[in-house]
Amino acid sequence: MTTTLGALEERARTRNGEFGEDALIVCDSLVRIYQSEGIEVQALQGLDLLVERGELVAIVGASGSGKSTLLSVLSGLDAPTAGRVRVGPWDLMAMSPRQRVDYRRRMVGFVWQQTARNLVPYLTSAENVTLPLALAGVGRAERTRRAKDLLDVLGVGYCADRRPGAMSGGEQQRVAIAVGLANEPQVLFADEPTGELDTATSHDVLEGLRTANRELGTTVVVVTHDSGVSEHVQRTVAIRDGRTSSEVVRRTHTREDGSEHVVAEEFAVLDRAGRVQLPREYRDALALVGRVRLALEESHVSVWPSGRPEPAPDPGPDTKHGRHREQP
Ligand code: ADP
Ligand code: MG
Repeated sequence: MTTTLGALEERARTRNGEFGEDALIVCDSLVRIYQSEGIEVQALQGLDLLVERGELVAIVGASGSGKSTLLSVLSGLDAPTAGRVRVGPWDLMAMSPRQRVDYRRRMVGFVWQQTARNLVPYLTSAENVTLPLALAGVGRAERTRRAKDLLDVLGVGYCADRRPGAMSGGEQQRVAIAVGLANEPQVLFADEPTGELDTATSHDVLEGLRTANRELGTTVVVVTHDSGVSEHVQRTVAIRDGRTSSEVVRRTHTREDGSEHVVAEEFAVLDRAGRVQLPREYRDALALVGRVRLALEESHVSVWPSGRPEPAPDPGPDTKHGRHREQP
């Protein structure tokens, strides 16, 4: 793992000094504290995240790491305690209730984990897709056409006249994606859309999200606790304890013989306050706890356990190679 920023973040951070100016989605030091019966839970602890227009990003993390909280904030269902959150032109901290309805209706679509939460049980798939269109005032002919197109694109055209009870979990979730896309949102959020599905069916649903991204150009943010998702997406962001901790970026390289291979590179995320989380394996391997020694080298920063003798400065303590600084 290299301690460096993803190229996207780097560009956004340096531009005019405003964090994420060019990004479609900006979460800047997001904090969400829940109070329940006198106990405070910090679900988000200064989370930074940028998503570019047209990206398909997966957010992974253990149960309780703050993924659903983040999606509730981004989808306009919940307000953060502190920080800045913007999606396109919408400042989610400053929306009126009226704007919130508008935002939820036009700007974003959702797919939830519980299949039952996504679809109306007594309506067919086609009717489920046309429902949000009717609410948005789209005419009947256009509604019918769009519902058919969306169900076809997601590979569930054959389910158009079936009610949810007559479909598999995977089919229901793909119909749910069609419902989420009905009003042509700029962003589709999916919270554990494969949480109740087996591996093979999960694959179809993730491919459905990829189709939405590639063929309709929708920016997609999918949350999951399944790290296997990274095979389906360009970028996987890991959340730990309410903060982004690392990212895996996949790039396709073409070899000299023309064949393609995928390279996945893992990055640690340096937050806006300069904090970086060292992976547990690294900490365990060198018994890094409490204080550590940092040294600025010409091209990188090194971290030493504080208990060890200070590394011999080379060639001398006052040259650019040997500056040591102890961090509390
Ligand atoms: P994830 O989706 O990653 O499993 P959540 O965002 O649901 O995580 O939860 C993050 C933390 O916030 C957990 O500790 C959870 O118990 C707590 N939490 C979530 N929602 C509430 C709530 N409404 N009231 C109190 N605590 C909550
Ligand atoms: Mg969750």
